[in-house]
Amino acid sequence: MTLDRIPILDLRQQYQQIKSELDQAIASVLESGQFILGPEVQKFEAEVAEYLGIKYAVGVNSGTDALMIGMRALGIGVGDEVITTPFSFVATAESISNIGAKPVFVDVEAETFNLNPQAIKAQITPQTKAIMPVHLYGRPVAMDHIRAIAREYHLQIIEDCAQSFGARAGQYTGTFGDVGAFSFFPTKNLGAYGDGGLIVTNNPDVAELASMLRVHGSKYRYQNEILGYNSRLDSLQASILRVKLPYVKHWNEQRYQVAKRYNQLLQNIPDLITPELCEGHVFHQYTIRITNGKRDQFQKHLEAKGVSSMVYYPIPQNRLPIYAGQYPDYPVSDLLATQVLSLPIWPEITPETQEIIALALKSCL
Ligand SMILES: *Cc1c(COP(=O)(O)O)cnc(C)c1O
Repeated sequence: MTLDRIPILDLRQQYQQIKSELDQAIASVLESGQFILGPEVQKFEAEVAEYLGIKYAVGVNSGTDALMIGMRALGIGVGDEVITTPFSFVATAESISNIGAKPVFVDVEAETFNLNPQAIKAQITPQTKAIMPVHLYGRPVAMDHIRAIAREYHLQIIEDCAQSFGARAGQYTGTFGDVGAFSFFPTKNLGAYGDGGLIVTNNPDVAELASMLRVHGSKYRYQNEILGYNSRLDSLQASILRVKLPYVKHWNEQRYQVAKRYNQLLQNIPDLITPELCEGHVFHQYTIRITNGKRDQFQKHLEAKGVSSMVYYPIPQNRLPIYAGQYPDYPVSDLLATQVLSLPIWPEITPETQEIIALALKSCL
């Protein structure tokens, strides 16, 4: 397929691959007349829990809600501190602030883009309740270190797995901590056709609390025991996710191959650092670093050559207007924010398209 412009992501090919299954699943939900929670959601929860190798899965409205409800189900709230990374999407810190807790940032490592475990201990205070690592771009965080610190200081772990569905380091991300939170936003590795999210845990009490919190804090209608939310996964999204779940492993393997090809095409280019191909990485994003200080110009040149690219993220969370003036600088995050550039990636992108991208890239540097 030749496109005039190369997009950053193309979801149309995936739909064509599984169109008949999806159309059938959607039609059967429409015919059932049941749209919120219901049997499709229950089946999806059972299937995804089995897939990930975890006891409980609770479908919610979004990844952001999964983080918020997940933390609340762990008993985190007003006045508590949660340690996380400045270098992530705003939902990470926002979810912490929205439950009345305080995000405490620990800078990242430039090579992994993830929370630097060595820097965590220095930020622990008597208010610290949890650590929220983010498996950014689909790269699993080194959880051994984080788990050791959590054990030593009696902290809970809530993993932001919004970008890491299917990523593994011996076991799936989301199963290392006390709670794993996933997003099914359409562009994620397992994406719905609308908003959706998931909380996973091995703790039955946490699962029960999360199930209550997503329906206004009630187990039985009009018995609202705790202040909750309206945050339900809907049946249509669950039916779509059920169709896609068996394919996601293959799609993730294809993403890995795409990343490998990019790394070969882009090796030994001055001022360009390619990402490490660590095992279990699911390459939600393929993100290079442009180290000559000219990332923005470079992106404009690429754009002019018909190649889309994105900067995830141009502003570390601590520098967003909502947090302005409240935090010190995090130099590695600040540096990465000026260097990172995510290139087009989706499972079906062809080697020919990647070669066009690589040529465009080389001609711009
Ligand atoms: C997408 C994303 C979220 C939020 O997920 P939504 O489903 O959009 O609410 C949270 N954290 C990270 C790192 C994300 O990429």
